[in-house]
Amino acid sequence: MSQIRNVAVLGSTGSIGRAAIDVLQRLRNTHRVTAISCHSQLDLLESQIGLVQPRYAIVTKGMADSERTSWQGVQHRESPATERLVGSDAIIDLVGGTEVDTVIGAIVGVAGLESALEAVRTGKRLALANKESLVVAGSLIMPMAERTNAEVLPVDSEHSAIFQCLQSPQGTKDLRRIILTGSGGPLRDWPIDKLSEASVEDALSHPTWKMGKKITVDSATMMNKALEVIEAKWLFGLKADQIQVVIHPQSVIHSMVEYRDASVIAQMSPPDMRLPIQYALTYPDREHASSPAIDWGTPMQLNWKPVDPERYPCLALGFEVAERGGTCGAVLNAANEACVEQFLDRKIRLTDIAKICRIILNEHHYSPSPDLAELLRLDRWSREEVHRWIKTA
Ligand code: NDP
Ligand code: MG
Repeated sequence: MSQIRNVAVLGSTGSIGRAAIDVLQRLRNTHRVTAISCHSQLDLLESQIGLVQPRYAIVTKGMADSERTSWQGVQHRESPATERLVGSDAIIDLVGGTEVDTVIGAIVGVAGLESALEAVRTGKRLALANKESLVVAGSLIMPMAERTNAEVLPVDSEHSAIFQCLQSPQGTKDLRRIILTGSGGPLRDWPIDKLSEASVEDALSHPTWKMGKKITVDSATMMNKALEVIEAKWLFGLKADQIQVVIHPQSVIHSMVEYRDASVIAQMSPPDMRLPIQYALTYPDREHASSPAIDWGTPMQLNWKPVDPERYPCLALGFEVAERGGTCGAVLNAANEACVEQFLDRKIRLTDIAKICRIILNEHHYSPSPDLAELLRLDRWSREEVHRWIKTA
């Protein structure tokens, strides 16, 4: 790569954001961290400012005038090279401007949608971890990327795996299906009739990945894989029936593609998000590893098994939404986000998440080709419905 890439890490204080900063530290010859953002973890953002000295640091949570003045005052004393900005609009201005050419979308939830859209609208490289934006608005993002020549490159490990498997000249020609792997989450060996008793702590103890709370709960319900089915549909232009999910407890095979002659190509590496983050940054080149390689001198067993639909009712929702499209993704995503918050607040049980999402998806007024305003309106409606359902249940 001849030119230095200017990267904005949105959500730099999260699990993906921190891994991205680590990767970018090693890619200093080719990449510069131009901007970082957090929502509320100011202390961590401060230490990242010290570490990478970005041109801009942005905080998106609402700040009282006094808090804002005091935070921006630090700039003059400690890190004058970093301009401190407040609010989501500052992210949009920056992403849409000319100072950034690569955006790492690592904000969690639909809060990451607007910046993803802006990156695509202005023809940037979008290294996308924030799967929710494709779930909600893949029908807007992918056609827009075609028009603007924006690159939407997956950071989600399964989708990075598929993307890597498709790099041969064969590509998607004669593709029969893709197989997304999932660990099965922290409760995969629990008796099904005990799942309703799972505590927040049980749901947050993931066996193979260390991630943010929302995606870890999504992993326990397998809503994460449901969202990934929808994400894969948009990224690779697939139909729902070309996507299969298997449980693979070791999280070493990150996903596979199967061609019509029954040949299967898999991508493997130890579970570490730094690899897919790095690949989305350096593609089409490969750089020296930021993460450990498989130790071929150590015996290892790889297993997989089909998903039990009774244990993971969320997965069927993902396939249904991938098939129906339209407004379904926005409704499912918002219902799930609201349910996960309620579960983390100990207001509902883990097993209520699938039930509530199913009811709200069934109840909504479906439309096949919504615009952004309608998607955002349904996002709000779904959240209100979750709260109404919980109050009246
Ligand atoms: P985290 O919760 O660890 O981090 C979320 C980041 O988003 C933080 O920087 C947080 O700021 C910021 N943020 C939270 N709310 C807002 C908001 N309203 N507006 C702007 N920024 C906000 O999440 P993860 O890193 O685990 O996940 C990020 C995304 O990546 C998700 O979409 C997830 O599905 C996806 N992903 C994650 C994987 C993982 O291994 N973690 C794997 C594959 C995909 P603050 O810290 O200040 O709260
Ligand atoms: Mg994933």
